[in-house]
Amino acid sequence: TEAITVGDLAKRMGVKAAEVVGRMMKMGMMVTLNQSLDTDDAGIVASEFGFEIERVGFEEEGLLAAHEDSPEEMETRPPVVTIMGHVDHGKTSLLDSIRHADVVSGEAGGITQHIGAYDVHLPNGGQVVFLDTPGHEAFTQMRARGSQVTDVVVLVVAADDGIMEQTKEAISHSKAAGVPIVVAINKIDKPGADPERVRRELSERGLVSESWGGDTITVEVSAKTGQGVEELLEMLQLQSEVLELTANPNKPARGHVLEARLDKGRGPVGTVLVQEGTLKAGDSFVCGTFAGKVRSMLDDRGKPVDLAGPSIPVEVQGFGGVPEAGDEFSVVDSEKVARQIADHRAMKKREAELSAKTKTSLEGFFEKM
Ligand code: GDP
Ligand code: MG
Repeated sequence: TEAITVGDLAKRMGVKAAEVVGRMMKMGMMVTLNQSLDTDDAGIVASEFGFEIERVGFEEEGLLAAHEDSPEEMETRPPVVTIMGHVDHGKTSLLDSIRHADVVSGEAGGITQHIGAYDVHLPNGGQVVFLDTPGHEAFTQMRARGSQVTDVVVLVVAADDGIMEQTKEAISHSKAAGVPIVVAINKIDKPGADPERVRRELSERGLVSESWGGDTITVEVSAKTGQGVEELLEMLQLQSEVLELTANPNKPARGHVLEARLDKGRGPVGTVLVQEGTLKAGDSFVCGTFAGKVRSMLDDRGKPVDLAGPSIPVEVQGFGGVPEAGDEFSVVDSEKVARQIADHRAMKKREAELSAKTKTSLEGFFEKM
């Protein structure tokens, strides 16, 4: 990390080391030649000799494996879908219904593990990944940090209720993020269902249904009976083909944390959505202010896996601490590099917190005056 020994500092300033030690002693600091000084102390000593410490930027980017993907390296990846919509319009029910279409979980006898994401394998061999996010929050948070985890938004609108406040919010979030919307007009089984009214309301918000000559895909579904769910999944596959989603699977993994927690037995664990490269057991990584090493990985059904490629969510064990949802996750060359980057980030964070505190206390001081 950013430290310099007394001897090095003397050398850089072109003064005798003994002189530095002596001056520091007068300042009440008992030091030896090989003692490390942090940036603040080094700054104080340097200024005694008329120097200023220039902080040389820590090049994090150089340590994070940078790789320019060539077109030949890119491979098709599954779409990552977030379900959004007004409360009670059927988001959870729809996701449940979609999971029933999962051929793999069907074989395994249902999903036991909750990792906040579902990798759904379709009967036609296709694959769609759903994020079971608290919807808007994770989406908005990650977007605020300039990262994007969703390729397509499924907007659930209850056919007996129409567009409501949170529907409007979801539309504006998706538009701001430039993420295409596929509309699931839900609860079509209900007597009061009026899908045409929903289409009209959608068109008033710039989402003109294909059946009305626009380019917004709308599918009538019932999460309760399962009607239309297969068609919805087909439409998502179609949409994903249009988007030509690709990633290079043959490089160190990068992705984002979807959720994280402290597990009693396993320590800090987090669901990571791999977005490029392939994550492997044993990989060293940095995530937020923590370093880590992949001790084990579980897929969305709680099954141990050794590899996770682009668009695949896995629960990772081996974080140095509990990361935050939305933190970037990057595999690096070694544990040493991971620690270097993590330490640097932690220091930056402390500095920022400290200066925020100092500012507040100064503000308080001036207010009192
Ligand atoms: P969420 O708040 O958007 O996650 O909505 P939920 O999935 O919790 O559903 C809210 C309520 O609507 C629940 O009582 C569901 O049983 C019901 N519901 C959801 N989908 C349908 C549907 O397609 N048809 C009918 N009749 N009820 C539904
Ligand atoms: Mg719900």
